Amino acid sequence: ILSVKQVSKTYQSGSRKLTVLDEVNFDIQAGDTIAIVGPSGSGKTTLLGLCAGLDSASTGSVSLNGQSMENLSEDQRADIRSKFVGFIFQNFQLLPTLTALENVMVPLELKKRKDAKQKALELLTKVGLGNRATHYPTQLSGGEQQRVSIARAFANEPKILFADEPTGNLDTETGEMIEKLIFDLNKEQGTTLVLVTHDLELAKKTNRIIHIKGGKIQEDTYA
Ligand code: ATP
Repeated sequence: ILSVKQVSKTYQSGSRKLTVLDEVNFDIQAGDTIAIVGPSGSGKTTLLGLCAGLDSASTGSVSLNGQSMENLSEDQRADIRSKFVGFIFQNFQLLPTLTALENVMVPLELKKRKDAKQKALELLTKVGLGNRATHYPTQLSGGEQQRVSIARAFANEPKILFADEPTGNLDTETGEMIEKLIFDLNKEQGTTLVLVTHDLELAKKTNRIIHIKGGKIQEDTYA
């Protein structure tokens, strides 16, 4: 479902070039659960963004569901993402002018679902926020915003879900709830999971761990 070949990413800062990813290769099969781990600054978030089609590689190629992500316009990449990618961001990326319910409705309305409102409420209830539907992001705690962003990712019925530190900054109980929701999606719908995490306990629950360091894969182990 995902193929990463010889992918490098460099950022230009002033006259200096910073290589964040250096010829990374891996393939992920549909239904797999993968954790990407590594020290802070090792390039995990950058890698996740490239895999999810949020950004493009400097060299090398990424293909998602058999579709190469190179040479596509931002609109074309957005179209691919809306069809089968779910993304849980570190900083939630909720739309501040929309309520929790409206945020979750966005992907459903893009799909022209007539039951968008009902489905969004169902998803919010599933993440324990049925009673926060009319709250705006600023009226929600960090953990609640995280759960809204998860409900929104689920609304997309993704074939592949990318999550950046999905349980970071959450109390144990909320973290466990979110962990269960994500893994249930894999079990019940076969959704492929790609998680970036510092939490080794969470990483151990996946069936494959990719360690990255200094922009290179150091280890790629299967459970
Ligand atoms: P963390 O675990 O701390 O979230 P990470 O492994 O996810 O780190 P990245 O966020 O991928 O690391 O960042 C890798 C490196 O790339 C960092 O040194 C960061 O400063 C740099 N970087 C990330 N985005 C940009 C950008 N847009 N422009 C320039 N440098 C960037």
